[in-house]
Amino acid sequence: MSASPSGRPSGLPPYDDGNIFARILRGEIPSKRVHEDEHALAFHDINPQAPVHVLVIPRGRYVSLADFSASASDAEIAGFWRVVGKVARDLGLEARGYRALTNMGPEGGQEVPHFHVHLFGGRRLGRMVP
Ligand code: IMP
Repeated sequence: MSASPSGRPSGLPPYDDGNIFARILRGEIPSKRVHEDEHALAFHDINPQAPVHVLVIPRGRYVSLADFSASASDAEIAGFWRVVGKVARDLGLEARGYRALTNMGPEGGQEVPHFHVHLFGGRRLGRMVP
């Protein structure tokens, strides 16, 4: 995948401002928020797959990890990943462990086209299989 002059990979779809996480960021749709700051928002997944299932999203308009890693500023990237670790810590997941996961694109199973990291915890998780 080549990159545009701005650094955004050229093969990616354009960002859709109507996606559900964009609407959550704008407060148009309610969410059970656990953390928010200038870089990121964290909220409970509506269909939890583990006792704790939280999503962490950047405030910026990034379709996926491919977009975020190529296009976001160093400050956004650092701020975002600090929030991922902090939320896991604040939810009490650190001692026993947890999983942080992102789906990227159609073959990666990504459904919502705004970059997000899933945090799963609260029980022993199954082995990951492709
Ligand atoms: P993806 O497959 O990695 O894109 O994951 C999207 C996630 O968003 C799924 O786990 C959904 O359950 C979750 N989700 C979809 N709509 C909402 C919502 O309105 N609030 C919270 N989570 C949502």
